[in-house]
Amino acid sequence: MERSPQRDILRAMHWSRFGLALALAACAGCAPTYSQKRRAEAERLRTAVDATAPMPRPELAWRALGTSVKGRPLRVASIGHGPRRVLWIGGIHGDEREGRVATEELPTAFVGVPGAVDRVTLTILEDANPDGTAMKTRGNANGVDLNRNYPAKNFKPVRAFGIKPLSQPESRVVHDLILDGNFDLVIVAHSWRDDHFINYDGPAAAAASAALFAARSGYPVRDSGDMSPTPGSLGSWVGRTLNVPILTLEYHRGRDPWAAWEETRIAIVAVIVEGPGLAALPSTEEDAR
Ligand SMILES: [Zn+2]
Repeated sequence: MERSPQRDILRAMHWSRFGLALALAACAGCAPTYSQKRRAEAERLRTAVDATAPMPRPELAWRALGTSVKGRPLRVASIGHGPRRVLWIGGIHGDEREGRVATEELPTAFVGVPGAVDRVTLTILEDANPDGTAMKTRGNANGVDLNRNYPAKNFKPVRAFGIKPLSQPESRVVHDLILDGNFDLVIVAHSWRDDHFINYDGPAAAAASAALFAARSGYPVRDSGDMSPTPGSLGSWVGRTLNVPILTLEYHRGRDPWAAWEETRIAIVAVIVEGPGLAALPSTEEDAR
């Protein structure tokens, strides 16, 4: 079983209701007060969550591909050995870390799918902007929006985006990783004020992956053509310049990272493992565990 706080909460709620019913039946004349019930439920919940045995996480061999402006490592790890090559980027805007739990939990979920490691080589870039994460800022330590610093045709040379493409060390690390990796799919986690959706750039496979993601998560698909231009973005460069499918996953800004992971877990694993020509994953959450 995979660790699933929502499931544990539901289970705990079920048993707490059962326990309360028993207590009420045994002592019809001394029903607990509302606050006693709340305390009892809280205690049972806590016990149930504490009793959840953590799944063994796969051992990942993290390596630093390079460093940020402030010298923080940009860490990457690969898991699996299949022919399909997928890159997950845990974040690029330092004030959008809703995908951090997804980044931590993805390896466990991935290896939990039968046959996944034989189908796919999954590369995880933990955080493309560790200085921004440390400072809780959108840009890096130079104040540059790294998601505008790529050599896409629509690059815009302004100070906030970098006066040249790849002027920032973090961008160069991601650029080289993507060129060396020969990926079939890139997924990058962000968050969006007051909304959540899956956006895509690139060839038909990108639209197909976005549709699959939407079907498994309920997140709507947003076409880049319907959105404001994003000059020099990773999506523009990877999807349109390199013609490699890329999904930009926009979590709801401020969403609890555990909830964000739970509601997208099946969809993320599905787009990673299901590729063109590969058999589909079981469609129910239960089967995919
Ligand atoms: Zn963002």
